Amino acid sequence: MRIRRLKLSGFKSFVEAAELRIDPGLTGVVGPNGCGKSNLLEAIRWVMGESSPKSMRGGGMEDVIFAGTAARPPRAFAEVVLHAQTSDGEELEVLRRIERGAGSAYRVNGRDVRAKDVALIFADAATGAHSPALVSQGRIAAVIAAKPAERRAMLEEAAGIAGLHVRRKDAESKLRATETNLSRLDDLMAGLD
Ligand code: ATP
Repeated sequence: MRIRRLKLSGFKSFVEAAELRIDPGLTGVVGPNGCGKSNLLEAIRWVMGESSPKSMRGGGMEDVIFAGTAARPPRAFAEVVLHAQTSDGEELEVLRRIERGAGSAYRVNGRDVRAKDVALIFADAATGAHSPALVSQGRIAAVIAAKPAERRAMLEEAAGIAGLHVRRKDAESKLRATETNLSRLDDLMAGLD
């Protein structure tokens, strides 16, 4: 999967709508301290379904919304759109939007989807919010200090099999629900005898 374009609006320091084209080859983002370079990486992780406010350097998920400055009022929502091309050559447009008090909504190629669907799309493409390809500050030290199980999770993510674990968990919880239904049915049948 190749990220082609990133559009941000009201996301952290990107109060105005901003669009970045990411051409093939090496892209560098340069700028003074605090200008928003790390916020760009966080926008990529966020649109891919990041659910931990802590890893977005915030206390709550709404902290990604432009908080306002002395000169500018805060924004009511934040939106990030990521355009990518899959390894099959298909175009993918993923949108995430968060509104104060209303939580996050996702859209893939114009269709409303769940956070889980977005996470699965990226997991199957061996990428996603926790991909080892997205290296934030302090992440190298975290990889070195990781426990074996955490390191295995990183390798699985890189191998594109992380999505299988999510599907397995889903299937297991459906199985448990069905087993509960069956045993309730047994009780009801016993009552009818
Ligand atoms: P450095 O080079 O020091 O690592 P950087 O270019 O990576 O800096 P970021 O850490 O991406 O910069 O951006 C930090 C800036 O984003 C700070 O000025 C901070 O005030 C601003 N910022 C973060 N969240 C919000 C928000 N919700 N609303 C407004 N501004 C925000």
